[in-house]
Amino acid sequence: MKTYDFAMVKILVPVSYLSVLCVSQDFDFFYFVQQWPGDTKKKSCCYPKSGKPAADFGVHGLWPNFNNGSYPSDCDPNNPYDQSQILDLIGCMEEEWPTFSCPSNNGTKFWAHEWNKHGTCSKSVLDQHDYFQATLNLKKKVDLLQALQTAGIEPNGTFYKLDNIGEAIKNGIGYTPGITCNGDASGHSQLHEIYFCVDTCGSNFIECSLFPNGRCSSEVEFPSF
Ligand code: AMP
Repeated sequence: MKTYDFAMVKILVPVSYLSVLCVSQDFDFFYFVQQWPGDTKKKSCCYPKSGKPAADFGVHGLWPNFNNGSYPSDCDPNNPYDQSQILDLIGCMEEEWPTFSCPSNNGTKFWAHEWNKHGTCSKSVLDQHDYFQATLNLKKKVDLLQALQTAGIEPNGTFYKLDNIGEAIKNGIGYTPGITCNGDASGHSQLHEIYFCVDTCGSNFIECSLFPNGRCSSEVEFPSF
């Protein structure tokens, strides 16, 4: 509950109502996307200059989306990625938003891609610093690996039922995830990315009305990293 003073009259506003004030004309919701670093495709990639990332989910991005399934992209070429605006966040981004592109680099290329393609489409509500800060705040709110491990789902190459993975995440985090998969070297389905939906402020998780096409089989491998 937040307290506001209007002409000496105290008005109590439940915090949940405040989020209603955040409206965007430009998109309907965000996907907040995290990726597991152990999938086969990543094994042919490069670690960032800072070294092998933690064996944990990392951020892929925060993507404005429309309710019809389409999404805006590259909305403002006049507002390109500018690292000088987020210098205070870089240390945290190196930990939470690791790059796997080659040649090995510090992440700038990946973060610039995410801002230029997706972030510029959220600029009616989030400027560049707000966008990266909001994404890091969302990451801090959810511990996906913990949610899975609590349900006995470990990253050790075991196959788990897709339904059980979804249920473990829903139980641990409180929201139904979108789950996407890759194929491993033998064509088996393996865990790739986890999607949550977020309101247009970029601050509150919401239930998704629309999920990505996950391409997962009913049994999914959780590879080690
Ligand atoms: P997007 O365009 O935001 O949908 O992201 C897809 C692009 O991001 C592809 O070019 C991927 O190769 C690249 N990508 C995804 N994850 C990573 C990562 N961890 N590091 C570097 N590039 C990535």
